[in-house]
Amino acid sequence: MNVFKFGGASVKNAPGFVNVAEIIAFFKGEKLAIVVSATGKTTNALETVVKSYFYKDGTALEKLDAIKRNHYEIIETLGLVGTEIEQDVNDLFVEIDWILDDEPHDQYDYIYDQIVSIGELVSSRILYHTLRSRGINASWLDVRGVLFTDEIHREAKVIWNLTSEKVNASIRSLLEHSDVVVTQGFIGSTTENHTTTLGREGSDYTAAILSYCCNAEAMHIWKDVPGVLTGDPRKFENVVKMEKLSYKEAIEMTYYGAKVIHPKTIKPLQNKNIPLYVRPFDNPSSVGTKISSEAEGFYPPIVVIEEDQALVSISVRDFSFVAEQHISNIFGILSELRLKVNMMRNTAISFTLCVQHHQDKLLQLKEKLENEFSVNIETGLEMITIRHFTKEAIQEMKRNKLTLFEDRLQDTIQLVVKEIPLITRKKEDEK
Ligand code: ADP
Ligand code: ASP
Ligand code: MG
Repeated sequence: MNVFKFGGASVKNAPGFVNVAEIIAFFKGEKLAIVVSATGKTTNALETVVKSYFYKDGTALEKLDAIKRNHYEIIETLGLVGTEIEQDVNDLFVEIDWILDDEPHDQYDYIYDQIVSIGELVSSRILYHTLRSRGINASWLDVRGVLFTDEIHREAKVIWNLTSEKVNASIRSLLEHSDVVVTQGFIGSTTENHTTTLGREGSDYTAAILSYCCNAEAMHIWKDVPGVLTGDPRKFENVVKMEKLSYKEAIEMTYYGAKVIHPKTIKPLQNKNIPLYVRPFDNPSSVGTKISSEAEGFYPPIVVIEEDQALVSISVRDFSFVAEQHISNIFGILSELRLKVNMMRNTAISFTLCVQHHQDKLLQLKEKLENEFSVNIETGLEMITIRHFTKEAIQEMKRNKLTLFEDRLQDTIQLVVKEIPLITRKKEDEK
């Protein structure tokens, strides 16, 4: 049995759903568990519904209507109007209507999970009906009945023992009388039946959880790129596809922020030695990039960019050395604010760290530290990581940039940079 994952980009419109159905038909004869994300940018759109509802700006219903229209349009283009699917999708959206009918009493993150999760439930119903209408023997699974988590809404952690047992039993039994099981990425449930989510972009992780629990032969993520490339094609030219990567290389790349796979995806797969293929959804016969435990080969320079970074410089006021106690206090606050440190360094009297620029969290950090330390925060920066760097690759990345912070390990260099404002000569007639 194999696990396929289709992200938002692969089901952004009706032709996307048809393409996914064709890929599945291409693998006729295989038993498949299929994890699907919400269509296109639906999760972002649902997030704005939550915000409008919670902060009562009066536009939540209007925003929800636009999302509904978009889905009904997909159903119409797929030629599925008048089938059971309309009722199905209605029933799911009604759950949001009910929430919006009431005043927001619950915590923001709880409400978020109840509303945003509908995106995956709807897209998986559409995919299920699309497959059935094309003669594919598909069944549908509400993943919330098998993937159990703790109660940390928006960042729920999996309860592995329970999930493992439930996922394996239900998928195996569904695959006894169907060829494919369609289910949702990104969402789960507490043991009290409250819906949770696993963190943005979490569908890759769901597919890895299911692969782990069912001892899948392989997991396949279908993307709008030929495979894992040496850099983000939206940002760089001349990037090339890598035929294979080790789990270690993949985990390093995603840790440093490569957006192609969710960072939590690799561990469950590595633990059971399940290979991961990152493949192009516009060419089902290509195997894309294989990520596995196979011996490492030669890697070209691989570049990962994290935008919108902040550099926080923390120095002791009284010139005493930065000691373990200081560092422990600083990390206590960072952990409380759930701020992930991307790079750090300490000198005798200062401590510098690079984090994602979250305005609110950084203000809180400054406030909490200012009794003991003087704190300076610089924003609008970029963090560039080059794995397997060469002199030329470093030069290219530093071009027209001012490097504020640099850290070099044997096979990885990290730079925090800012744009150098270019001064250009005025033309004669502008003087
Ligand atoms: P999905 O629809 O599966 O959620 P995403 O948009 O999250 O897809 O991920 C695919 C995108 O990841 C690509 O379009 C590409 O721009 C980006 N990306 C970033 N880094 C890489 C990389 N190293 N290799 C391939 N794609 C990358
Ligand atoms: N739909 C969710 C998101 O956009 C999960 C995912 O796509 O992986 O974050
Ligand atoms: Mg994604």
